[in-house]
Amino acid sequence: MKDKAHVVIVGGGVIGTGVAYNLAKMGMTDVVLVEQKRHSYGSTGRCGGGIRQQWSTEENIRLAKASVEQFERMNEELGVDIGYIQGGYLIPAFTEDEVRDYRKNMALQNSLGVPTRWLSNEEIKELVPMLNTEKMMGATFCPTDGHANPFAVTEGYARRAKEMGVEINLFTTVTGIDVVDGEVKRVHTDRGDIETEFVVNAAGPYSPLIGRMAGIEMPNKPYRHEILATERFRHFLDTMIISFHHGLYFSQTTRGEIVGGIGNPDEKPGYNLSSSLDFAVRMARALIEFMPQFKNVNMVRQWAGFYDVTPDAKPILGEVDEVRGFIQANGYSGHGFMLAPIVAQLMAELIVDGKTSMPIESMNMRRFKDMDMVQEANVVG
Ligand SMILES: Cc1cc2nc3c(=O)[nH]c(=O)nc-3n(C[C@H](O)[C@H](O)[C@H](O)COP(=O)(O)OP(=O)(O)OC[C@H]3O[C@@H](n4cnc5c(N)ncnc54)[C@H](O)[C@@H]3O)c2cc1C
Repeated sequence: MKDKAHVVIVGGGVIGTGVAYNLAKMGMTDVVLVEQKRHSYGSTGRCGGGIRQQWSTEENIRLAKASVEQFERMNEELGVDIGYIQGGYLIPAFTEDEVRDYRKNMALQNSLGVPTRWLSNEEIKELVPMLNTEKMMGATFCPTDGHANPFAVTEGYARRAKEMGVEINLFTTVTGIDVVDGEVKRVHTDRGDIETEFVVNAAGPYSPLIGRMAGIEMPNKPYRHEILATERFRHFLDTMIISFHHGLYFSQTTRGEIVGGIGNPDEKPGYNLSSSLDFAVRMARALIEFMPQFKNVNMVRQWAGFYDVTPDAKPILGEVDEVRGFIQANGYSGHGFMLAPIVAQLMAELIVDGKTSMPIESMNMRRFKDMDMVQEANVVG
């Protein structure tokens, strides 16, 4: 392992590998990535793979739209099949308030170039004939939303970064960060130390622990989210369905399984990765309510991962004021896979050029101190 590098990236998920790839693409290859287990061990390998631009805040819409542009050319760029299905996201409304809010969001999305449109229940049925629309009051639909395989994207980034000269150390744990005169100086790992000028905190739900190593208290907290996969079916569902009303989402992968999850509003923050029967029962009931034909479907496996949640459900991006060279790329609050391509590019720009091609100021960690926050509403709680 190198003992000196311009940049050390902590975390080998989609964000860490994405930053490594983008740095190398920009000619910066004096980079070491350190991952305590293997790629996609964290939230990346546990996620639903959804990619949507239907957000309530301008920042998330802009970031997601720019990411979609990258996902569209990723097979070619990374030389892997990322299992991308651009079959749209359907967000049904169940109350008058939701109809009002979703129409407002749609107007904002349209004003930023996202082609979301309103569908009546009849149009929903035409799009997804098996969906039970009885209690729905219409839905927003964006045809350029979709889903992809997070493992393939992460492996693709890692392989290309390595080919271009980035050093990737798996099964290597960061144990400390030295800060001298307000600047990062050294990263300690269980396999040796690395002197450095930049540390990228891409440790996902573990990022507050990495922050603490540099003396920074971060506001994001890990919340367990459970998810399951069913047996495989012939392809019948292009669209990803998400109900903020139920905290439910599901889609069909290119392999044919239905993959989806449902939130638990009573979940407390903490590093609990166990699977529960309660989730399996609630998820099965919700799926059957949405598609009664799911009644006789077998669940094949279930697992859990963490949402890395911030107080306003938006990411923490950029250098912290207190420590020069300590770059945050975390706090995605359950939607970091879909934002990864553009966030990774922007973090690389920040390190190489000292500035970014899109504004990220409003996502700096100082917003929590100043209490200058605009809440993102379109999240699964
Ligand atoms: C059930 C579920 C469903 C989701 N669905 C979606 C979805 O549909 N769409 C979407 O966009 N997002 C979704 N997400 C969120 C998404 O998975 C994350 O936002 C994203 O994967 C974050 O990537 P990351 O690289 O920042 O973090 P991670 O993938 O968690 O990677 C962080 C890495 O850091 C490593 N690490 C931690 N501490 C150390 C240390 N001390 N030393 C070395 N390495 C360390 C970990 O091992 C880990 O591999 C979902 C999440 C879950 C749990």
